[in-house]
Formats: sequence, C-alpha cells, structure tokens
Amino acid sequence: MTQETLALHYGYNKESFGAMAVPLYQTTAYDFGTAEHAANLFSLKELGPIYTRLNNPTTDVLEARLTALEDGEASIATASGQSAIFFAIANLAEAGDNIIIAKKIYGGTTTLLSHTIKRFGIKAKVFDSDNADDLESLIDANTKAIYFESLSNPQIAIANVEKIATIANKYNIVSICDNTVATPILFQPFSYGVDVVVHSASKYISGQGLAIGGAIIERKGLNEKLINNPRYEQFNEPDESYHGLVYATLPFPIFTLRVRLSLVRDIGATISPFNAWLLIQGLETLSIRIKEHSKNAYLVAKYLSSHPKVKKVSYPALEGDPNNPRAKAYFKDGMTSGLLSFEVEDFETAVNVLNNTKIFAIVVNIGDSKSIITHPASTTHQQLSQLELEKAGISKGLIRLSIGLENAQDLIDDLENALK
Ligand SMILES: *Cc1c(COP(=O)(O)O)cnc(C)c1O
Repeated sequence: MTQETLALHYGYNKESFGAMAVPLYQTTAYDFGTAEHAANLFSLKELGPIYTRLNNPTTDVLEARLTALEDGEASIATASGQSAIFFAIANLAEAGDNIIIAKKIYGGTTTLLSHTIKRFGIKAKVFDSDNADDLESLIDANTKAIYFESLSNPQIAIANVEKIATIANKYNIVSICDNTVATPILFQPFSYGVDVVVHSASKYISGQGLAIGGAIIERKGLNEKLINNPRYEQFNEPDESYHGLVYATLPFPIFTLRVRLSLVRDIGATISPFNAWLLIQGLETLSIRIKEHSKNAYLVAKYLSSHPKVKKVSYPALEGDPNNPRAKAYFKDGMTSGLLSFEVEDFETAVNVLNNTKIFAIVVNIGDSKSIITHPASTTHQQLSQLELEKAGISKGLIRLSIGLENAQDLIDDLENALK
C-alpha cells in the first residue's frame, strides 16, 4: 500500500462500534481481567496495554502509522522531539561513551547533545554532514551513535545520507537520522541504510501547531546489528532493572522496546493520548500538505532569490542551490518542504523584516499551516556561542521562513513590503 492510504487506515481495525475516527483512549490504566494476563504482560509473554506511561491504544495507532510511513519495523511515540532524541541516544550510549553529531542540526539538539548529555558523561564530537569526509576519523571503540538531520533546521542543507550510513555500517555503529523537516513523504532514510529515525511530530506531522510530540522508529532488521555487537552490551547482557532480561533473546524489535521498557518507563516522557490523537489527525493529511508547503516555498524562494536586498537564499529545491542535486536525487520529485532561509545584510535589516511582515507570525516553530518567520541568531540559537553559531552556519542576518498553506502570492507581496 502507498503512504497516502497507510496514513488513513493502517493500524486501526474499528474495534469500538465501528467508529470511523480512531477512538481517543484517555485513560491512565487498564483492567487486566485475570492475574495470569497481568503476569504475562509484565513478563513480556504477551505485549499489551499495562499503564499509559508505557503504552496506550490510541498511541499504538500513531506508532503503527509512523512505522508504516517510514517503512520501518517498530516505533515509540514520545512526549516531544527532544525526548525522542534523548531516548534514542541514551539507549545506545552511557557514561564514558561518545557520539558523533552533525554540525548542522536543530538548536535544541545541539544544546541537548553537546551540553546536557555531557553532564551524564557522554561526549559529542562534531562532523560535517554535508560531505562526511571527517566522519571516519572521529570513530573510536567507544563511539555509540552517529546523529544527523536529513534536511537540517535551520541551515536547510541535505546530509550525505548514503555516505554516513555506509560508514556507520562499516563500524557497526547505529546511525540516527532526524527526519522532521523532510517527513517520510519526501524522504525515507531507511531506504539509504539508516538505522533509526527520530521525529519532532510537533512540526509537519501535527501540521497545525496543535501538539508537541516525538517519535523513534527503527528499521527492519536492526536487531541483527545489535545482537552480539560488542559496542552494545546493554542489548546482550542481563538488564538488572528488568529481572535479568536479555533483550537480544526476545522475538521483538529490541531498539524501541528497550526505549519503552527501560527509558520511558523510568524517565516518563510519554506522549499524552490526546496529543497522539491530534497527531493521528495530522498524519491523515500530511502527504497533501507537504506537497503544498513545498510548492509555495518554491515560489517564495524563487522570488527572494532575485530580490536586490537578499544576499543568499537556501532552498534545496531551487535550481542553483548547492543542495539541489541532492534534493533531486533523494527527495520525492525534488520537493523540499516549506522551510527556507535567506540572508539580509545585517541584524537590523533582519529585525526590520520580521517587524514589518503582516501575514508571517514571529514564532519559533516550523511546519504550521500558517506561515512563520524566525530570526535564529536572536531566538532558537541564542544560547549558542559565537563560535557555535559560525560552526552551524548561522549569520546575524539569517532569516528562516516556514512557508504555510496561504496563497503564495499573498506571502510574496507581504515580503516585498517588509523588505522595502
Ligand atoms: C523542533 C525540532 C526538534 C525538537 O522537537 P520538539 O517536538 O520541539 O521537542 C528536533 N529536531 C528538529 C529538526 C526540530 O525541528
């Protein structure tokens, strides 16, 4: 089945009165019926709802659909994109280990992976995901993950996914791709050999800026990479917190299962069933929306690229953009979402543009149906040092746009006015 159909039907069999809409199971806990069933659930002889911190029937449908759209094996939804990223890393690395992260990533991910995780004894080394020439030289025996974004926010660059995945496979290291901006409709990392996909579902998956959520999806066959892999003892040795359970012996996809049974169980950043339900509504129209976002953004990018006050436009779908060949090779019909950025002369000019647009809202979000304008240097990336800003390719005059579903000409007229 194709993604359009999966997004509407997969993982739900109308068990409650034939309800057409996926029911919202707004419940904390579940009646096990018998003591035996309860015991089987806890010993993993059967998988099923135990307590909503661990799983929930509404969230199950969201997870099934995300897995299907990414053509993966299994997934777990989480409270936010940030928690998905934290869990994916914490599932692989412990104190004394290191991870290798791309230079061009989301500001929140930089602070999480470069600073917060350091306090837990996990060190991040930085590589250049544009070409990945430096990646191999950074790997050592304690490297536990390679982390990058397929289409990076806010730099709007497309990673050399194939090369990154090939190197990760050569060293038997798990690669993690944040596919938030691309969405599985435009790009599927697993088809290029990536192991784990993470999402901020708060963006295009939600689509209307209604809910925070995240997800981790594992590829088909990831168990084989983890089982008997000396880098990942945690999957091959008894888990003392789970009566000596050895994940490698279980007949399930163990990456996301361990996130659920160990990390989400203990840390508790679970998605609320209501947010999962909202995100299911978002997924139903994702394939249509992302194409319209891309069409609109292309027209705006084309307009900006010929504006005298605009120094540079980054939009991979645009002819002449350094990422255009990769957009054409990797992305569905060369479409690259509603995210674009452009550079004006300086800080003041950027601030003026922000203050003079009428349709664009000054909001630190992307993927909303309503257009958004952001100045990363003063907001999302404010906590980064000057050196980190330069490394991440963010100048003081950089403006990021998340193009919504308004009429493209109205957006162009609004920018024309603001740039006067
Ligand atoms: C927003 C975002 C995140 C963080 O997700 P939240 O849902 O806001 O926690 C991570 N990665 C990317 C690329 C994002 O755009």
